[in-house]
Amino acid sequence: MNTRSQQLFERARQFIPGGVNSPVRAFKSVGGTPLFLRDAKGAYLYDADGNRYIDYINSWGPMILGHAYEPVVTAIQRQAASSTSFGAPTELEVEMAALIVEMVPHIEMVRMVNSGTEACMSAIRLARGYTGRNKIIKFEGNYHGHADSFLVSAGSGVATLNIQQVPGVTPAVAQDTLTAPYNNLSVVEDLIDEHKGEIAAIIVEPVAGNMGCIPPAEGFLEGLRRLCTREGIVFILDEVMTGFRLARGGAQEYFNIQADLVTFGKIIGGGLPVGAFAGSRAIMEEIAPAGKVYQAGTLSGNPLAMVAGYTTLKELYNHPELYARLQQKTSYLVEGLKGVFGIGNIFSQINHVGSMMSVHFTEYPITDFVSASGANNELFKKFFHAMLNRGIYLPPSAFESWFLSDALAQEDLDRTLEAARETMEEIAAI
Ligand code: PMP
Repeated sequence: MNTRSQQLFERARQFIPGGVNSPVRAFKSVGGTPLFLRDAKGAYLYDADGNRYIDYINSWGPMILGHAYEPVVTAIQRQAASSTSFGAPTELEVEMAALIVEMVPHIEMVRMVNSGTEACMSAIRLARGYTGRNKIIKFEGNYHGHADSFLVSAGSGVATLNIQQVPGVTPAVAQDTLTAPYNNLSVVEDLIDEHKGEIAAIIVEPVAGNMGCIPPAEGFLEGLRRLCTREGIVFILDEVMTGFRLARGGAQEYFNIQADLVTFGKIIGGGLPVGAFAGSRAIMEEIAPAGKVYQAGTLSGNPLAMVAGYTTLKELYNHPELYARLQQKTSYLVEGLKGVFGIGNIFSQINHVGSMMSVHFTEYPITDFVSASGANNELFKKFFHAMLNRGIYLPPSAFESWFLSDALAQEDLDRTLEAARETMEEIAAI
């Protein structure tokens, strides 16, 4: 029963466009009523009707330690009693920056912002200011937030809602964003040749997580790195999803690759609104007030967000064994699901890297946006709703990654596989 969610959704649509504050939540591509959530603890969510779900979204990544993680809750409570915002420097943000520099390879300086969008938007402004060039290259189906420059061939909700051209993004802005298929180096080389000396930055999700989960092909990231070095292009890894999730040092550590700038969001805020961008001193000191590339924020580095992020990162820093554990939980689930789909003779592709994964129903490998778009969405819809009915909360679109948390216990994984088995039986019976 989700009567209360239905009532709330109706009321929400009176006051909030589409009833939600961010599009993917609206269940547009799978249909039905989004669940209105009331509270959460560990691996579980509770909706407004009191139903319990095992969570595989985890706020789209941030809750890697599970919901209401005790040390984070305590730190937030203590800070809230002291101050929630000064708009002035604090010791806490210095320690936060120092911890990030300690954890992430190849960076010397960090600027805190309030979302992944802000981080990516600021990073390309910085790359443009640093190089004196205008154009950027991004990849089809990658999502870097909702800044104008990124809403060209974007993934996530833009793909889910199938919006080809976003009204409000001017042609002048869009023409400076060049796009290439993910995992395709030769198109990138062609773009660079065509626009010699004009490209400020290449921005890429090191593991794509906004068209389902798609790993980088062998040599793809290394090839981009090589091209950027050769052409004086700033290489930006968008680590909003992968940062502190693939490893303590994110994709740079996981894939042994060096970026010029990295952007963060999600885990870095421990569930509060935080983003950051980081890089070498030489590039970062172009940012105001050290340099002239302007970037600012009333709430940037605010103590409540910093304490949630700092406490989360410190837990990850102190417990590196957590990453192997998460990877093992993910592999267990992936292997289990493969078995279930195999018995049902259902074609599926289950991509996974670290604790990110996704399911596409197709016999063809999912390597880019075109292959992701070719998967069977009708079957995905059925799978999604049948799992939801059994208390398993999955992303409501095949164009999103699942994110596992360390709070998931063996019995949760087994319950999930049992639900998948029942789901396949139900689908086969239709
Ligand atoms: N980059 C990536 C890779 C993302 O996945 C997202 C959001 N899912 C963003 C940027 C934008 O972050 P935010 O929603 O915090 O603005």
